[in-house]
Amino acid sequence: MTLILKDKAALRAWRATLAPGQKLGFVPTMGALHAGHISLMEQARAAADVVIASIFVNPLQFGPNEDLSRYPRPIEADLAKLEAAGVDALFLPSVEDMYPPGASTFVEESMVSLPLCGAERPGHFRGVATVVLKLFNLVQPHLAVFGQKDAQQCAVIERMVRDLDVPVDIRRGAIVREADGLALSSRNVYLSPEDRAAAPLIYQSLRAVEAAYFDGEHDAGKLAALGLAVLARSERIVPQYWEVRDPESLGAIAKVGSRGALLAVAAHLGTTRLIDNLLLSPGSAAKAIG
Ligand code: AMP
Repeated sequence: MTLILKDKAALRAWRATLAPGQKLGFVPTMGALHAGHISLMEQARAAADVVIASIFVNPLQFGPNEDLSRYPRPIEADLAKLEAAGVDALFLPSVEDMYPPGASTFVEESMVSLPLCGAERPGHFRGVATVVLKLFNLVQPHLAVFGQKDAQQCAVIERMVRDLDVPVDIRRGAIVREADGLALSSRNVYLSPEDRAAAPLIYQSLRAVEAAYFDGEHDAGKLAALGLAVLARSERIVPQYWEVRDPESLGAIAKVGSRGALLAVAAHLGTTRLIDNLLLSPGSAAKAIG
């Protein structure tokens, strides 16, 4: 049975029942759960004694013209998936409970949150960092699992935890994809059939650039241009960025060196914005050649 904790008071009462030796794993989400979310729950299950998930569509991380009001909220189906995954508890707070009127304190990471999605979505990572720190303070987990799908979000949270001495072990979970390569996302349900048919080009652009890198192309500008050229095969895809970045700092690089690189892409299909990424690691290139 997944216990539903509808507010902070219920969460705190439940948290107090856990023994000090019980390791608590946490997976924060915005709901509309899919196999990508569930893989994070399984990772938490394997590493912890007790697993709690949260579903909270955080208004603070949505821009004024983004999809907050139409974000999918299939709570009954989500609950069934959490039960099936053996998740022990679900924290399901309201916006009013999470943000008392006049809340005026925010968490701002000021380096890795600046480029890529940070540049396209002002305030987004401030909203993410603030809600994640609040959730960590409330849940007090030993470990928390985040998806590599949102690579920049992982980087921001890892920085926050390091810089502010937050006692939570952050783990990353691999990207779960459809058979045709499209990364699972709660936003995929918005895609028209035509846009859904074009969407796998996003992953194909990442794989084409990976192949070019293995073939010896290390120039970041040329690799990004190749990625954009693959996206241009469909006029339905409007790229927002296609970047080759340092895998840790997310800073710009001219060449892919010994640290490898993060290939990161964001694109619109109709009104839907999708993101995807791939880590180029020099180790895997050596393996591919050898
Ligand atoms: P969201 O509900 O979109 O905020 O996502 C909640 C968590 O699930 C985040 O840590 C995401 O990175 C992760 N996630 C989303 N999509 C995927 C995916 N396709 N594979 C693995 N993790 C994912």
